[in-house]
Amino acid sequence: MAENKVKAKKATEVKEEQGVNFWADKAPCYKLCNCPEMITNECPVAKYQFLPCWEIEGTYCKLDDKGSTGRDTSICETCRVYKKYGNGEPIVLKLFGKGIDTHLRELDKIAK
Ligand code: SF4
Repeated sequence: MAENKVKAKKATEVKEEQGVNFWADKAPCYKLCNCPEMITNECPVAKYQFLPCWEIEGTYCKLDDKGSTGRDTSICETCRVYKKYGNGEPIVLKLFGKGIDTHLRELDKIAK
């Protein structure tokens, strides 16, 4: 009977399946911030456009050189991208494991 149950889906999965593009009518953060192509190619924002950047763990700007997890969104609170498009809504991370830091940690594991 378990296989007859409809599997519950996360809101993020539904958005992705429905082809939602948060940035469709907006200038994406990597353009507003003039991120170089090298960063844009690695940053999850360009790959997962169904969410705003502040809801994604491990975007380039959430990282620093002190081993951060990419989950600290305090930088977003003062960022002009969030101020422009965030509508003052609370910042809640919704996509995990796709960030630049995650990618680098995986490379570290392979290298060891
Ligand atoms: S600091 Fe936050 S809101 Fe600003 S561009 Fe980076 S992820 Fe987006």
